[in-house]
Amino acid sequence: MVRASQATTFSASAYFDDRGAHGTAQPISERVLPHSRPIVSYFFPKGVGEFHYGERHPMKPHRLTLTNALVMGYGLDKQIHHMYNPRPATQEELEMYHDHDYVEFLSRVTPNNQLEMRHLIDTFNCVEDCPIFSEMYEFCRMYAGASLAGARKLCAGTCDTAINWSGGLHHAKRGEASGFCYVNDIVLAILELLRYHPRVLYIDIDIHHGDGVELAFYHSNRVMTVSFHKYTGEFFPGTGKLDDNGANLGKHFCLNVPLQDGIDDEMYLTVFKTVIEDTVTAFHPTSIVLQCGADSLGCDRLGAFNLSIAAHGECVNFVRKFNVPLLVLGGGGYTIKNVSRCWTYETAVLVGADIPDELPATVYDPFFRDSQWKLHPPLTGRVENQNSPASLQKITVSIRNKLRYLQGAPSVAMQEIPPDLEGLLADEEKNPEEKDEERGTAFAGEGRIDRSMARNEYFDGDNDVDQDDVPTLSCARRSVRRPRGSGRRARGRGRGRANLNGRDDGEDVEESGVPSTTKPPKTRNRTRSRAKPRGRVAEKDKDMEDMDVDNVDGGGEPESGLEPMTPVDIDIDIAV
Ligand SMILES: [Zn+2]
Repeated sequence: MVRASQATTFSASAYFDDRGAHGTAQPISERVLPHSRPIVSYFFPKGVGEFHYGERHPMKPHRLTLTNALVMGYGLDKQIHHMYNPRPATQEELEMYHDHDYVEFLSRVTPNNQLEMRHLIDTFNCVEDCPIFSEMYEFCRMYAGASLAGARKLCAGTCDTAINWSGGLHHAKRGEASGFCYVNDIVLAILELLRYHPRVLYIDIDIHHGDGVELAFYHSNRVMTVSFHKYTGEFFPGTGKLDDNGANLGKHFCLNVPLQDGIDDEMYLTVFKTVIEDTVTAFHPTSIVLQCGADSLGCDRLGAFNLSIAAHGECVNFVRKFNVPLLVLGGGGYTIKNVSRCWTYETAVLVGADIPDELPATVYDPFFRDSQWKLHPPLTGRVENQNSPASLQKITVSIRNKLRYLQGAPSVAMQEIPPDLEGLLADEEKNPEEKDEERGTAFAGEGRIDRSMARNEYFDGDNDVDQDDVPTLSCARRSVRRPRGSGRRARGRGRGRANLNGRDDGEDVEESGVPSTTKPPKTRNRTRSRAKPRGRVAEKDKDMEDMDVDNVDGGGEPESGLEPMTPVDIDIDIAV
């Protein structure tokens, strides 16, 4: 079919670029059989791409607008089952994890009043990497609301895969901003999933360590965190070494895969597939959250890996094939033309569509001119590979050994732990169906998966109708949730850890000529202690303290909408 944008006249092409022929997305029946086609929901808060951290700040929300334009341009919206413009998260929802005082601060601070709020700005680390920008709080509420909405749809069983490219801000701590992240939508979404899912697996393929999520669940055996990242001790955030494996009940439920510069597709996919296969086999997650930070791509403005978009997408494809309810989130990614290509390709992977290498025509064509409007530009081989097969084998063997502690023991983690729904929901109104969910306790999560699978088993192609218009239980509850009365929490509980040499440095980007992402040395002490997940997770852990966990830790434990771009949106690509 010839599209209007493929008109043969030169001036009919967008921005007068002769883009050649291009097509639209085509389903590939050989990859995804109709009877197993997952229900995919896509969450894009309208306007989320219009915020600005600052002209020279590497984090550019505009990448989300580009991504959405390509997704639409390829016609993927016709293959996604449900497109949502989710409502922003409420303050109460943000405070399901974050400190009240911190959220209050975020809601009040503006570029105009930041001088008089200087003390609090320092207290909450909204300096350097995390500047105060116009409508910052609204931005946070939007991306967090989208992740929460995705988690609720997964809990309700109205979708199998939920996508929110505006989320994935994995560095934010309970009481402070970090690494371009102010609110940790991932932690909020996982807390939501834990209402129904006994075990949540978190996978992070951003080049930076997923420290904020790891920290939140470091003591929990209901959330397994696995982060693949560059680790040197100096590279931001300075955490995530191989032997950091969780603590207390969470011991062995945290895995780190530290990598070096220049890792290529083959090596990355080998270590990723080995570790994730082993982890899924040992942990049996009932849902998975996948953070798809695109700064692990080759040629990223801040990254130093050599991954192609195809390899990055293969990680997503590999996780998808476990057929476990899946929340897919964005994250880092600073060469925005490639970020948008990557997340568009991964959207296609998740819906089982095969899309051509020629990008569809959009008003953003100038962003993609340098690589002739290809979806898969050459990104690899620019950085020398500092990893060796031996170093990677050491990592995979080490992780396999750690996972034995999950498989070998009559582990509490493998049992269906009844969530403390009585306590959790005591202050909320419930309808009969909700009470039914409570009686189901932990099996509610399992039951939902069964239901989801059953629906897919009888999935009747694109004309199949699901119950998505039915309000979800969680949404109904949310409106009557009582504000948490915890007030101010002790400082330090949500802090990151200092690295070994006592510094908390970020990566060195001096040669780039862009504002440093290096965090200044803190004058205040940073504790190495991990935050005990509070609220529901803490309660679950408390419940499980009564159970016999000796066998787990016993003996010989291993240590350890399209709009024209504006000038300010133009990315300054300094990466090679
Ligand atoms: Zn990152």
